[in-house]
Order: sequence, then C-alpha cells, then structure tokens
Amino acid sequence: MMLHQDSNCIFCKIVSGQIPARVVKQNDRAMAFLDAFPLAAGHVLVVPKAHFQKIQDMGAPDARAVFDLVHKITGRIESAAGTSASTIAVHNGKEAGQEVPHVHVHIIPRKPGDGAGP
Ligand code: 5GP
Ligand code: ZN
Repeated sequence: MMLHQDSNCIFCKIVSGQIPARVVKQNDRAMAFLDAFPLAAGHVLVVPKAHFQKIQDMGAPDARAVFDLVHKITGRIESAAGTSASTIAVHNGKEAGQEVPHVHVHIIPRKPGDGAGP
C-alpha cells in the first residue's frame, strides 16, 4: 500500500523505520509503539501509518484501524504495568497541546496518585 507520509515528521520516520521505536503491535494501517518520554511506565502511542495531523483528517478505514489497535492492546498494556486503569487521550490540534502533528492516541497506564493524567 502506498503511504501518504511527511518526510519531516518524526512519527512518519518511526513508521518507515528511519528512526527506531519499540513497536508493541501493528496492523495494516496503524502502529503502536512506546512513548520515548513516558508519563508513566508502559506509556504507548498508537498512530495511523499515513500522515494526518488530526482525527478528522483521517478517513474512516484509518480511524477504525487506529482504534481497533487501541481496543486490542489496552488490556495488555494495563496488566503489563501492573494496573487495571489507563488514560486514553488525543491532543487534537496545537492549541490542545499537540506537539507532534501526526495523529496519536496516548495510552497511559494509571495508578492512584501518579499525576500522569491530562
Ligand atoms: P503530544 O503532546 O503531541 O500529544 O505528544 C507527543 C508525544 O510524543 C509525547 O508524549 C512525546 O514523549 C512523544 N515523542 C516525541 N518524540 C518522540 C520520539 O522520537 N519517539 C517516541 N517513541 N515518542 C516521541
Ligand atoms: Zn507523520
């Protein structure tokens, strides 16, 4: 599948293997990898393999693939972190705190008093 990518985007470079990341799981349109600066142990990012800045910029197949991966891995991420709760969040646009302009869903395992929430 020919991917729409942005050669200056750090997450596109992770998807294409140009920069390394600890990949957790992937499907044909989405990839999950560990956050390099985790807010809590086991913090994972799920991205579409194609470059889109915001949720509404993706087509339905990419949106489904991203959330299918979130749905599949969240339980395992929580148990690996020794908890049964997580914050699942998207910063959708710069004014909302989005620093990397490539859609990404944060999955952050949570424990009481960890201060890792939005
Ligand atoms: P945002 O603030 O845009 O929602 O989140 C961007 C996330 O990307 C941050 O949690 C940050 O730690 C993570 N991040 C930034 N650069 C890299 C990188 O090069 N590799 C990985 N794995 N994560 C990154
Ligand atoms: Zn990108």
